[in-house]
Amino acid sequence: MEYIKRNRIDKISAKISEEIVKDDLELIRACYQCGTCTGSCPSGRRTALRTRAVIRKALLGLDQVLDDPDIWLCSTCYTCFERCPRQVPVTDIIIKLRNLATQKGRILAPHKSLTHLLIDTGHGVPINDKKWNDLRESYDLDPVPPTVHKYPSAVKEVQTLVKSLGFDKLVEYKPPVNTNSKKDEKPEKKEEKATRKGRKSKIKK
Ligand code: SF4
Ligand code: SF4
Repeated sequence: MEYIKRNRIDKISAKISEEIVKDDLELIRACYQCGTCTGSCPSGRRTALRTRAVIRKALLGLDQVLDDPDIWLCSTCYTCFERCPRQVPVTDIIIKLRNLATQKGRILAPHKSLTHLLIDTGHGVPINDKKWNDLRESYDLDPVPPTVHKYPSAVKEVQTLVKSLGFDKLVEYKPPVNTNSKKDEKPEKKEEKATRKGRKSKIKK
């Protein structure tokens, strides 16, 4: 006789729903699984995100929900919240799940890279290049936005904050190697520079 294989539930933890309720999101308990959130979700039309299922897993306290890539597919547009007949704060619950996942170091690799950019430049998406500067100028704006791009010394403040919160360790951030340092320069690079110098002096002669 063949047995039907079912997905095993590895871990149930009341902690997940407790954490959600603790943040005044107790309306999660009002969800009656109507699926209006899934049907309204613009992200779900293009991806595998099924909002109702995420809420169900969170309600049941399934630990796997924190590993579920679906929680990162939400664009936080709040349509589900607006349309939910039970006023379940769906978007805020998804954000809470992301926070819980992050605290446990369960972050997708692309998001990790984004945080590394943030630590290095003060922007998740750096926008200080000619294309963006010209576009801003065409709208009579200061070409350089009034962020760390304009005040580069503020990047240090971002880095201090990140370090004091231990966020750098959480996202496995490694400071970039200073390639300009002569001490750290690789022998091949030194050689290359010397050849270039030699070539230049021959041209002068
Ligand atoms: Fe639950 Fe609201 Fe989604 Fe319906 S719309 S499944 S009640 S969260
Ligand atoms: Fe979908 Fe997220 Fe928008 Fe809700 S907030 S409708 S889950 S993309």
